[in-house]
Amino acid sequence: MATETKILNCINCPLSCELTATVEDGVVTNVTGNFCPRGAQYAKEELTAPTRMLTSTIRIEGGRLPLLPVVSAKKLPKGRVVECAEALRSVSVKAPVHAGDVVAANILGLGVDIVASRDMETA
Ligand code: SF4
Repeated sequence: MATETKILNCINCPLSCELTATVEDGVVTNVTGNFCPRGAQYAKEELTAPTRMLTSTIRIEGGRLPLLPVVSAKKLPKGRVVECAEALRSVSVKAPVHAGDVVAANILGLGVDIVASRDMETA
C-alpha cells in the first residue's frame, strides 16, 4: 500500500485553510486542517478529479459593449479549461443576449454549456 501526505489550500472561501490529506493507493482517506466540510470535499476532488469554473468573454455583434462575459454552467475538468477558453475565441453572438443564454453548447463535448453571465442589450 502506497501512502502519501499532500498539503494544499482550500480555495472555497477567503480563509484558505491549509489542508493535509492522506492518500492511500490514490484514494483520499483523511483530511485535516479544514474548518468546514467543504474543505474535505475540495481536497478529495482536487486530488482525484480536479475541476474549475471557466469565466471568460466572447465577442458580441451589435451589443452596447464589444465583449460579453460568459461562464461555464458547471465545473469543467481542470486540465481542459485552457482548451475551452481557446475554443471560445472563435465564438461570437448577436445582441440582444440574456443572462443564462447558452452561447456554446456542450463545449468540446464535455457535457458543459457556456452561458452568458449578464444581459447585453443592442447598441
Ligand atoms: S475549509 Fe471551509 S472554511 Fe476553510 S477555506 Fe475551505 S470553505 Fe473556507
